[in-house]
Amino acid sequence: MTTAAIIVAAGRGSRAGGDLPKQWQMLAGRPVIAHTLEAFSAMVRVLVIHPDDRNRAAGLGVEVVIGGATRTASVRAALEALAGRGVTRVLIHDGARPLVPAAVIARVLTALDGHKGAAPALPVTDALWTGAEGEVSGTRNREGLFRAQTPQGFDYAAILAAHRAHSGEAADDVAVARAAGLAVAIVEGDEANLKLTWPGDFARAEAILKGRDMDVRLGNGFDVHAFCPGDHVWLCGVKVPHDRGLLGHSDADVGMHALTDAIYGALAEGDIGQHFPPSDPQWKGAPSHIFLTHAMGRIAARGFRLSNADVTLICERPKIGPHAVAMRTALAQIMGVEVGRISVKATTSERLGFTGREEGIAALATATLVQA
Ligand code: MG
Repeated sequence: MTTAAIIVAAGRGSRAGGDLPKQWQMLAGRPVIAHTLEAFSAMVRVLVIHPDDRNRAAGLGVEVVIGGATRTASVRAALEALAGRGVTRVLIHDGARPLVPAAVIARVLTALDGHKGAAPALPVTDALWTGAEGEVSGTRNREGLFRAQTPQGFDYAAILAAHRAHSGEAADDVAVARAAGLAVAIVEGDEANLKLTWPGDFARAEAILKGRDMDVRLGNGFDVHAFCPGDHVWLCGVKVPHDRGLLGHSDADVGMHALTDAIYGALAEGDIGQHFPPSDPQWKGAPSHIFLTHAMGRIAARGFRLSNADVTLICERPKIGPHAVAMRTALAQIMGVEVGRISVKATTSERLGFTGREEGIAALATATLVQA
């Protein structure tokens, strides 16, 4: 079974504004039509263009058919171009619908297993009016009304015969199919499958694309500090009584250091040592929230926000459990996020290694950043 996609892009649509037909305008750095073609990359593709667009289409690396005077004539030309090539099913899609979700294409193809035709649509949810001279002149029942989308899918032989038998223009290929007596199944469309028509549609499409390609970043951090004489340790912003202290240039908050490094790691901006060199006397004894606050500032400056962070402290003593909530709260306050996004937990190392011998404390952290 061979499925072909016909992408109809021969129109001169000018309502979208700009110097070029809308399917050739840029969307997120590429022509609209390049996005559309990509959605069908797994299939035989035929792009139907206006004769004036030959040069523009040359760089797309896809089979091109010159369209006719009407949309119906353009589709007919592409269907004829596919004749004799073993195509069994065909999807006919508007070039100006660049964001068609893969799930919509899949629903159309699945429905073709039981129908000669299938097409996506969304039920009309707004009230419908008629209007005249700037005033509402009546209302219409929206029951049973759908907003049609593409791709419209068909048994290839059936839709080719329907087009050959059809004369004149039609609203779409479903209309051509129905005129030939073919039943067309309705499958669920998608609001993201918008048809670029007005200038504002480009901004909407860019926003949808940005959501799809969201840059999610994960960083990890690791730190160790040795015990020294003392009567408390600072861990994740909380002063915890202990029979020893932690040795360090700053307050030696090993958990906060690991977390800060996780954030720098997610941003690929080095580590604490690069931003706050231990050789610089101004950081001697510094409270570690200075480092974490700086890292949070870098998140904002780079256009991200913190989605979550997870810190694991590794030590036999002090016991972390009784302080874990206070630690999460302290970190969340410094970071300006909800407590529910910050985890602090602990483990021993079963008396093994330097943490097991109580020579020091180790900490691991991960941080997830998403585009703000
Ligand atoms: Mg450290």
